[in-house]
Amino acid sequence: MAEIERIRAIDNHAHPVSLSVAGKADREFDALPVDNMEPSSDPVNMRPGPDGGPPGLLDAWRTLYGYPSSDLQPEHKRELPAAKQRAIEEHGDGYPAWVLDQMGVEVMLANRVALGRGIAPPRFRWVPYVDALLFPLDNSRLAARNSDRKAFFADEDILLRRYLQEAGLSAPPAALDAYLSRVVTPTLERQKRGGAVAEKFEAAYLRSLAFDAADRAAAEKVYAQYRAGGIASEDQYKLLQDYIFRYIAAECGRLGMAVHIHTMAGAGSYFDVRGVNPLLLESVLNDPTLRKTKFVMLHGGWPFTGEITALLTKPNAYLDYSQQSLLLTPATMAVTLRQWLEYVPEKVLFATDAYPYSEDMGWEESGLIAARRGRQALALALEAMMRDGEISRRRALELANMVLRDNARALYGL
Ligand SMILES: [Zn+2]
Repeated sequence: MAEIERIRAIDNHAHPVSLSVAGKADREFDALPVDNMEPSSDPVNMRPGPDGGPPGLLDAWRTLYGYPSSDLQPEHKRELPAAKQRAIEEHGDGYPAWVLDQMGVEVMLANRVALGRGIAPPRFRWVPYVDALLFPLDNSRLAARNSDRKAFFADEDILLRRYLQEAGLSAPPAALDAYLSRVVTPTLERQKRGGAVAEKFEAAYLRSLAFDAADRAAAEKVYAQYRAGGIASEDQYKLLQDYIFRYIAAECGRLGMAVHIHTMAGAGSYFDVRGVNPLLLESVLNDPTLRKTKFVMLHGGWPFTGEITALLTKPNAYLDYSQQSLLLTPATMAVTLRQWLEYVPEKVLFATDAYPYSEDMGWEESGLIAARRGRQALALALEAMMRDGEISRRRALELANMVLRDNARALYGL
């Protein structure tokens, strides 16, 4: 554990919050912020506050803000925002990078709509969102499914308008060909020029991950018909989305950007867990035209961690254990991690999914907790492999370096 703590990590996936500009709080840390959803039964480790919430939260406050110095008293909670504010003022624009130092993270992949104040290379690398490009038709039928999706599709419509505007258009063109060449490709190229190392799909919040092979002529027909008016059936619309998804994935391969896909049961009581099974991505990974694209299955597929293990032999498949590192205990995570490390360890990436859950648990605290637990899980897995005579101590340290940074460096050319 002591040796693992010395390794400066690359965090494959997180949502750092930028410093406010002119008193305006940041909202670009997620294309689909999950703070306005119908209530669900929160898992223990995701509950806000130190009473009944995640173990390690008080420790995180102490590490970051030297606070509280004694056991928690009711007044401490009230004073936390002030302590946080003092740290922000002390470090100024360097505050987000200072947080990375506390986490033992050298580089964080920032999954954000745009980078922002304090969130800049070389400490932060950009991963923008492309889901909005999958949904260029009337989304009202999809949005009517439940209140969470209603909010999500409203957000995606806004982001698509932004991408259209940046492409110099006020509405999607009438034909699919023009949409792909004048909106989709230019958006990806602009993001690449802006420093993006990968593109992120959080599609699992909007539909299933079954992005099947789709016929171009059929997709063109659906697009042209329903751009002109009316609402496509779910099957017709899915075919179009499937086609655009594979087009984007191929373009990412051409441009040298990885494709990040949310692959884990997600937030909200309406989340479709079955639709996030990583085996649904197998036909994408097996598409010969997509073998140049590197797919990173974020969050390691939980609860389908066995299924995702089998996919690691695909040459274009990678995974990280972000979010699991926050949601699960190190002991539970170590079992999964060991499976992966015994199978294809070059494809396994450390990550936190640091995220602003609440005032008590901002991206700083969740990042720190996930980084600690992620390292503990790694130490437990490697120690168990050493104890069982599978690997030497030297190899254990090599594996730790691979998971914490070398695999990500090779994947993104960092
Ligand atoms: Zn995330």
